[in-house]
Amino acid sequence: MIKMNNVTRTYQGQDGEFNAVDDVSLEIGENEIFGLIGESGAGKSTVLRFINALETPTSGVVEVDGTDVFSLSKKKLRAHQKGIGMIFQQFNLLNNKTVRENVQLPLELHKYKDPLSVREVLEFVGLSGKSDRHPSQLSGGEKQRVGIARALITRPKILLCDEPTSALDESTTEEIVGVLKRAHEKFGMTVLVVTHELNVIKSMCERCAVLEKGHLVDIIDVVPGAGRP
Ligand code: ADP
Ligand code: ADP
Repeated sequence: MIKMNNVTRTYQGQDGEFNAVDDVSLEIGENEIFGLIGESGAGKSTVLRFINALETPTSGVVEVDGTDVFSLSKKKLRAHQKGIGMIFQQFNLLNNKTVRENVQLPLELHKYKDPLSVREVLEFVGLSGKSDRHPSQLSGGEKQRVGIARALITRPKILLCDEPTSALDESTTEEIVGVLKRAHEKFGMTVLVVTHELNVIKSMCERCAVLEKGHLVDIIDVVPGAGRP
């Protein structure tokens, strides 16, 4: 499903160039929930952003469904990106829009073949009664539920979660992990979760990769025998 071969990303740092991601190879299976753990600055977000081409590798190959993401035409790249949902640490909601409008936004920006309805996704994340509220009237956990609903409404094949619970307390983290697991079960998709929180990896991932200073140092079966693809 997702395959990276010898991917490196060089940035200009204060003391010259450095590899934020250094020769990383990994493979994530279809419908898998895969974790990527490491300290702040390890390169996790950069690796995640290769998948929807928000970030470009300096060298190496990123394949999704057997296609090299960085060889796609503009039009095909857009189609590829449309199939990917993303969830953010700071939720990235539009504060001047209601919950309903935030969730509907992807459908306003692009045409999707078979989207879910706003009503359906809001019910799924447990926010049916709050569709007319603004983000400022919501708790952190509720804001992330809106973020999840906005990602799910397009029925993505891949869901990229960048520190989805890092702005939330422990009990809210458990709730959000629960929502993400239910989403995976109900809609079926490949999920990549970037986090520095081991408890999040343990409670939702089948396998995880460990990044240290841009290097992939280990791949762990969180669920014993997960060992795929
Ligand atoms: P993580 O998600 O693990 O916290 P990131 O992938 O965000 O790590 O960043 C890895 C390293 O690359 C960090 O040192 C970060 O400051 C640096 N970095 C990220 N983006 C850029 C950029 N556009 N220019 C320069 N350095 C960057
Ligand atoms: P996140 O919300 O995922 O933690 P970051 O704060 O890591 O996002 O990064 C936000 C943006 O700033 C990204 O596009 C990233 O590439 C860029 N960035 C991160 N670190 C640096 C850096 N040291 N120099 C320049 N740009 C950076």
